[in-house]
Amino acid sequence: MEKRIYLDHAAAMPVHPGVARFAGQFPDGFAGNPSTIYREGLVAQETLAIAREKVAGLIGARSADSIIFTSGATESNNIAVRGTALRNAKKGKRIVASAIEHISVLNPAKDLQKGGFTLTLAPVDRYGTVDLDALGAAVTPETIVASVHYANNEIGTVQPIREVAEIVHDRGGLLHADATDAAGRIPIDVERDGVDLLTLSGNQLGGPDGVGALYIRPGIRVQPVIFGGGQERGLRPGTENVFSIACMGEAARLAGEEMPEESRRLRAVRDSLIAGIMEIEEAHLTGHPTERLPHHASFRFSRIEGESIQLAMDMLGIAVATGSACTSRTLEASHVLLAIGLTHDEAHGSMVATLGRENSEGEVPRIVRAVGETVKRLRAITSL
Ligand code: PMP
Repeated sequence: MEKRIYLDHAAAMPVHPGVARFAGQFPDGFAGNPSTIYREGLVAQETLAIAREKVAGLIGARSADSIIFTSGATESNNIAVRGTALRNAKKGKRIVASAIEHISVLNPAKDLQKGGFTLTLAPVDRYGTVDLDALGAAVTPETIVASVHYANNEIGTVQPIREVAEIVHDRGGLLHADATDAAGRIPIDVERDGVDLLTLSGNQLGGPDGVGALYIRPGIRVQPVIFGGGQERGLRPGTENVFSIACMGEAARLAGEEMPEESRRLRAVRDSLIAGIMEIEEAHLTGHPTERLPHHASFRFSRIEGESIQLAMDMLGIAVATGSACTSRTLEASHVLLAIGLTHDEAHGSMVATLGRENSEGEVPRIVRAVGETVKRLRAITSL
């Protein structure tokens, strides 16, 4: 049987072998509960401190204390949006988000509307780039926080985050940027880019699932979204997941070290994949043609359904996505694809390939052939 080809790294990444080695040696001594003051507790505290340094290093944060660990990007996004809005509500109850944010940003933002907040969605153009004029109009002096991600997981478009930051700051707002898919793939620097709160996912860096981080610029007031003890500065109470946090730290270190070379390699593979697939009849690239994540290729094919493509490709030994795994259970058309101007029918024919370290140029002809056969076969039997 032919080897499987896995092309859904945006949904789940294999743990980096370097992280697996690190995990095998962990801990050198037993790491106890970081809230205790005997030796084992101090080992745990030191373990968290090292992980914080490594994560801060990846994103150019000056102080490791500006990083809090969470259970993942979803929780980080909730703290960033909800925690910041509620803590600063006196300023004015306005929040802004780009129309193509992840649901873990949009849903807490929508929930805040029940408490009297106004949410304004900033539109994007047909490539998924946020409309800077519309953003400027949306952010008012009463706006507490604007959430614009570094890059989109469904269409790969990278946002002009420095310009976004300037617009938001000029109007006195804070910028939250979800860097789940961008971190470790493109250079991120919270100082240079002007980001006030930044979300990271452990798994998307090559670490374990169920762990994430939130960078909070020193001085910014945020309140917890769940309540308990004083861990993580009281912002994320509950005993820290020391093992996963340590592994996320190591993943961040390795991602930073390997990014220049690995992103260059994947960009080349990605480009030949796009070139091959665009030869297929009525295939369209979604997202930005150049300002896109180096491992990301996304398409739509007219007159077929993404789920059928996914199942047919699976039978040919290839795992691809059709939009975001996070929303796949709803079967609704992707809000991202609708926001870039696609019709419902067009949005349903999407296929996303996100590459990782095991993928190589040599796989491209087989992938292109499989997509070509799949599209042709499905179109022959379609009722669309
Ligand atoms: N934000 C973005 C941009 C994402 O792509 C994802 C995962 N697809 C998340 C947040 C949520 O991550 P998690 O499910 O790990 O909480």
